[in-house]
Amino acid sequence: MKSGSFYQNYREVNLLVVHCSATRCDRQFSVAALRRSHLARGFADIGYHFYITRDGEVHICRPAHQIGAHATGWNDKSLGICYEGGLDEKGRPADTRTYAQRCALLDLLRQLKKDYPDARILGHCQLSASVHKACPCFDAKGEYGEL
Ligand SMILES: [Zn+2]
Repeated sequence: MKSGSFYQNYREVNLLVVHCSATRCDRQFSVAALRRSHLARGFADIGYHFYITRDGEVHICRPAHQIGAHATGWNDKSLGICYEGGLDEKGRPADTRTYAQRCALLDLLRQLKKDYPDARILGHCQLSASVHKACPCFDAKGEYGEL
């Protein structure tokens, strides 16, 4: 049984979308830097619901009941989860997740699947053939599809 406040703020979520920040693995991209970049793009705040920094810390960026700004066309019924990185030292798309990030991401997705058992887990680039991005630079559906 979920708490009353959960229902009060309930929003239908049928999709968990995994992203990368598309920043180089050898450069820090802090929550503050992410916030600045999203504010500069005209968003009210960070567009993702969760941001996982390289140290494995999960930063809650917006409440789950609030619609995010992370995947055009899929925002209304999804949550956006982003990890810091996604580009190698030369700026090429790569799965740069640290061990701490992998553990944190798995824990977070498991928890979210408890809250939203019917939600599918997909990487940003797996939403549609019209998404021409490498994001999140690994096969999220293959890795987490069975959670
Ligand atoms: Zn993305």
